[in-house]
Amino acid sequence: MTALHTAPLPRIALDAHEHGWDVESRHPTSEGTILYVVCAGCGARRIDLSPSAQLPPIAMTVTVQPRT
Ligand SMILES: [Zn+2]
Repeated sequence: MTALHTAPLPRIALDAHEHGWDVESRHPTSEGTILYVVCAGCGARRIDLSPSAQLPPIAMTVTVQPRT
């Protein structure tokens, strides 16, 4: 038997490119520096925590895509 109607595959949000983050603003806190970053390529935004100058920033939020 052939199924005429199949369940749609779940849509998985995949980034179309590797984001290139620019820091919009930075705010020093006791935990490190909070960075508000925006992708120069697509305008996506994220908030990172930079615990120290020796460690790479850690993503604190999901990536939010701009409205289309
Ligand atoms: Zn991007």
